[in-house]
Amino acid sequence: MDPRLVRVHAADNVAIVVDREGIPAAATCSDGLKTREFVPQSHKVALSDIAAGEAIVRYGTPIGFASRAIDRGSWVREELLTIPPAPDLDTLPLATAVPQPQPPLEGFTFDGYRNFDGTAGTRNILALTTTVQCVAPTAEFAAERIRRELLPRYPGVDDVVALGHSYGCGVAIDAPGAAVPIRTVRNLALNPNLGGERLVVSLGCEKLQPDRLFPIDESCACGGDNLVRLQDERHRGFSEMVAAILEAAEKRLEVLDRRRRVACPASDLVVGLQCGGSDAFSGVTANPAVGHAADLLVRAGATMIFSEVTEVRDAAHLITPRCRSEEVARGFIREMRWFDDYLRIGGADRSANTTPGNRRGGLANIVEKAMGSVVKSGTSALVAVTAPGERVKKKGLVFAATPASDFICGTLQLAAGMNMHVFTTGEGTPYGLAMAPVIKVASRTALARRWPDLIDLDAGRIATGETTIEALGRELFDLILGVASGRRRTCAEKLRLHNPLALFNPGPVT
Ligand code: CA
Repeated sequence: MDPRLVRVHAADNVAIVVDREGIPAAATCSDGLKTREFVPQSHKVALSDIAAGEAIVRYGTPIGFASRAIDRGSWVREELLTIPPAPDLDTLPLATAVPQPQPPLEGFTFDGYRNFDGTAGTRNILALTTTVQCVAPTAEFAAERIRRELLPRYPGVDDVVALGHSYGCGVAIDAPGAAVPIRTVRNLALNPNLGGERLVVSLGCEKLQPDRLFPIDESCACGGDNLVRLQDERHRGFSEMVAAILEAAEKRLEVLDRRRRVACPASDLVVGLQCGGSDAFSGVTANPAVGHAADLLVRAGATMIFSEVTEVRDAAHLITPRCRSEEVARGFIREMRWFDDYLRIGGADRSANTTPGNRRGGLANIVEKAMGSVVKSGTSALVAVTAPGERVKKKGLVFAATPASDFICGTLQLAAGMNMHVFTTGEGTPYGLAMAPVIKVASRTALARRWPDLIDLDAGRIATGETTIEALGRELFDLILGVASGRRRTCAEKLRLHNPLALFNPGPVT
């Protein structure tokens, strides 16, 4: 069979090598193009002669400018591209091309746990919220004992999770940036998969006091039997602290255990989309399939969250026209600008995002990565934008601003209210979360075959022509409903792969 190339857009002057072994020099590809040198899998080949200074176009968008003349059939390596400037935030079109709603998809349900606040869980988990890192190992110790000694008596409860983190003291708690980690810890405790049964473990002397975490004038206040303070006089030694946590936990387990799965409309799904370890295939296989599934879920009324500011910054000009209103577009620009400033203060810019693995996988720079990343969002109108750690309250496609770091993005999407996570990967990662099922989608078949016990869905079949973006998107849609219902478990769930929570703290540490 002739070597295969993938070109995404008719205007592109580069294409991606599909063949696993790459394409040797002087090979003739299926469309008659002759390679001038060896080009590895997922890297770019020039489809025409490109003059020095001319745009290198992928996804119909300039991803860089040629630093010297490139002949047709050459390997377009990273060093041959100079990066274009990021889109100017002051001149972006606001809500100028709002997509019309597509026909609703009715009748799709999943079996979930109904919560008092109207949300629904895909899992029934008891969480131990912690106010400060000092208590994290104690909470973990208690969670382990609850899992071993109590959980077998409450078979309706899926798991117990200690929400340990590195925040809570030794920080400038009144600085503006502190609002982000504080609301993240609070909103994590309100995640739909935790059934509204809160149990807070506090030390006693920490800066992040329980009533600051859960203000008493709000419905989510804690106190009485859902708060265990380790420094309280009544505890004699560690064993009594742990016994107090177990006693409080048992009361919550009794309530959680009485819950049963009921049919919930697909509109109760809050699906967080993320990618990690991306390669040049991510943008042609996994992410477009996820984008198609996102469109289907939006049509079914669900909330779809996409995030990762540094991976959408270079595609900002593609997002702001799609915003449902100028106000939403301005919210999106506000989050982009906040992150530009955050990076500048740290002496970095958006190009600090790409990893050695991204570049090995053929992604020349952050522009190319961003173009491939935003296709996860599908084609729906963007209806809301939230700042890091805030809860998402709207149905439809929502941008929840987060860093692109896998664990921080995952943590912030959980705080946003995500009850199901879809994660695309090219280079591969064994990533998983304790609070929500993670469906991992591989961009290449080689990865899916090498890691059959870690990858839930192989999108590489799109590049080889075995399936289409639409068919795989539909497969993912069905898989999401199956996993949400508890009928299917993800690879990360079976292996109990739980990345620890990672808070985003833009504020000062003291
Ligand atoms: Ca990521």
